[in-house]
Amino acid sequence: MLNILIVGNGQCGNRILDAINKEAFGGKSKFAKFYSQQKYKSKVETIAINTAINDLKELSFTKAKDRIHIPHLHGVGANRTLGKSVFEDNKSHIMRNIEERGNFDVGFVITSASGGTGSSFTPPLIKEIKEKHDFPVYAVVVLPFREEGTLYLQNAAFCLKEIRDSGVDGIILADNQFLKQIGGNVQSAYNTINDMIARRILFLLDALDSEMMMVTDLGDFKTVMSGGAGLATIGFYEAEKGMNIKTTIQKALSPNGLLFSTDVYKEGSRAMVIIKGDKSYLSIDEISSEVEKLSSSVGHVFKGIIVRKGEAPQVLVVLTLEAAEELENLYSVAVDAIHQEREKKTRIEEQKEIDKAFSKIDGLEPNY
Ligand code: GDP
Repeated sequence: MLNILIVGNGQCGNRILDAINKEAFGGKSKFAKFYSQQKYKSKVETIAINTAINDLKELSFTKAKDRIHIPHLHGVGANRTLGKSVFEDNKSHIMRNIEERGNFDVGFVITSASGGTGSSFTPPLIKEIKEKHDFPVYAVVVLPFREEGTLYLQNAAFCLKEIRDSGVDGIILADNQFLKQIGGNVQSAYNTINDMIARRILFLLDALDSEMMMVTDLGDFKTVMSGGAGLATIGFYEAEKGMNIKTTIQKALSPNGLLFSTDVYKEGSRAMVIIKGDKSYLSIDEISSEVEKLSSSVGHVFKGIIVRKGEAPQVLVVLTLEAAEELENLYSVAVDAIHQEREKKTRIEEQKEIDKAFSKIDGLEPNY
């Protein structure tokens, strides 16, 4: 049995964590958290951290003891400098809370890259965990819609770089921009994206801790995640009625299934393919031929099969990337955003001259 730590930082991280708890408690009911046992086979500890109390209050499936509020008025805005100093002031409180929960085999820290709290807490939190413990820590990072504005774009660029430099064992990317193809209004898109990420993470945990017909384990996951450029994404697909396993694998590797835009066969570095379902669907020949196709272009592919009586076939692929064109595009846009913000700052400095002009009449009264 694995001991697993999952931290959700900031609003986005909190909500994805809540979606994980929703799935894990099997609950559509708001009260599920009060009486049900988690469906996890592993021992999973979840912690939601936020500076904004309202974001924490909004959670429905995460227990009160699993919420850490770091008081700072109404959050830190999108200001990462402020966010990092708030983390520094509260770091020992946060670390104590994590340490009181015992030892872990693996940890996940979930955040958006672009907001204030999550994006500024996550890099130093991972650094702190890595310095004090020797279990692997993976970041699950949500990238912004590209039209969300210059501050979010520049935050995303700096946050990702800092996470990479934090000692993290790998970064799993999910991209709101790519996933918005799902449609709907923003709130329902968020919920759908959060559920997609939650489902993939829970499938992964299930696979790392299960008795499989052909085994993949935490060691294999670590090997996959250490490949490539430290970046990864996850694909998933559940077969529709009558769909064979070959097509299901292909769908998991296509834009239908992935959390981040990538051409798997061009940019992939290592992969882990986990297949779950009733034995009758799991044609070993079809599975082998798809896995071979993948390994001929990406290098090593670990394969795991979980037989679950009566279940439709589901496929999860963890894929590390050696190149990421979409990330390069994001950084180009972010560099423009950083320049725009800098120019704006210069303009504001110039406006201070206007303040000087106003101050010339300080202390004077009009005379009529
Ligand atoms: P923080 O609370 O200060 O860390 O800021 P947020 O987590 O709200 O960060 C803002 C970014 O997260 C924006 O790019 C939003 O699009 C994204 N975001 C906010 N909430 C959600 C959510 O529930 N799901 C997803 N997928 N993205 C979110």
